[in-house]
Amino acid sequence: MRDFSYLRATSVDEARRAAALPAAMLLAGGTTLLDLAKCGVVEPARLIDITRLSGLDAIQVDAQGASIGALAKMSRVADDPVIRAHFPAVSESLSQGASAQIRNMATIGGNLMQRTRCAYFRDPAVFSACNKRAPGTGCSAIGGVTRNHAVLGLSEACIATYPGDLAVALVAFDAVVHLGDRQIAVDDFFLLPGMTPHREHSLEPGEMITAVTIPASPAVQRSTYLKVRDRQSYEFAAASAAVGVELEPDGRTIRDLRVALGGVATKPWRARAVENALRGKALEAEAVRRASLLAVEGAVDHGANRYKIELAPRVVTRAILKIAAAGEVR
Ligand code: FAD
Ligand code: SF4
Repeated sequence: MRDFSYLRATSVDEARRAAALPAAMLLAGGTTLLDLAKCGVVEPARLIDITRLSGLDAIQVDAQGASIGALAKMSRVADDPVIRAHFPAVSESLSQGASAQIRNMATIGGNLMQRTRCAYFRDPAVFSACNKRAPGTGCSAIGGVTRNHAVLGLSEACIATYPGDLAVALVAFDAVVHLGDRQIAVDDFFLLPGMTPHREHSLEPGEMITAVTIPASPAVQRSTYLKVRDRQSYEFAAASAAVGVELEPDGRTIRDLRVALGGVATKPWRARAVENALRGKALEAEAVRRASLLAVEGAVDHGANRYKIELAPRVVTRAILKIAAAGEVR
């Protein structure tokens, strides 16, 4: 590991000023950053420890929605009784992410900013070609082992999946990322790879996430996060879905539906075609099954990840029907 300087920031302004310097990186729970530094993917010259900044770990809920500070720990948000009751998909996405030990360390801001688990990206000693890590070098994954790679939102430069769970729930329910002075919809915060896969989000140098807000809605109130993975103890998603349903007073017609996918796309993926196909329709299993196929419209596989094109619509169907079976609003 290379030498680096360490600053414990005492204010958001100080952290932002320091983060604007070349090769500076913010340090929150460290559960991803230290891994990436050890394997040589990132080489920070300056670490700015933001863990002691006061006021950035609050969880507040009112009639408008929830506001969650960037330094709130994953486990505390997942277990918060009000988040569990009124934003169940958010709580479930966090409690199914990583391990208990990691959730106790990791923060909401760090979670959103986690990097892809593409094995070629994370092994620079063996694989020099990676457009995301070293722009213009090529992509070792294309033509390699692609079982965990994306089928949606990919480009000829990069096919890596965005690995996080929380962001999928946030995209489904129109959450907003707060960057101090600036706010941006989570859906716009994450970028498609295109020919510049090293640009993953719209954070500018010297900016940091201070909070995320999630608007209250009947759909998020009646929501769930369903994650299918190779092992249940802890693992990234093979495919996941954040889903929320609001029904008309007749109890069977869908007034509002939110669907987002994880584990299959290069960014948290809002499946608006599924939402549009089912809005105003009766919540019936066959209609849900048919509409869920639209979740993977335009999908492109690279051999070993073809199973995701079949899996993702099934996960969406199961999640919607799970909510239907749960009956009344929680
Ligand atoms: P750090 O490691 O401190 O930082 C991560 C990145 O975010 C760094 O680039 C840092 O500079 C930046 N950063 C941190 N805070 C801010 C901020 N406020 N503003 C701007 N930038 C910031 N995640 C899942 O979602 N699902 C999983 O199933 C899952 N499984 C995992 C399994 C393992 C074994 C491991 C190690 C991780 C797993 N993760 C999973 C990822 C885990 O959730 C992240 O490591 C964690 O959330 C990162 O948070 P942190 O506070 O530790 O971030
Ligand atoms: Fe790098 Fe993306 Fe290719 Fe993985 S898929 S090797 S992250 S360019």
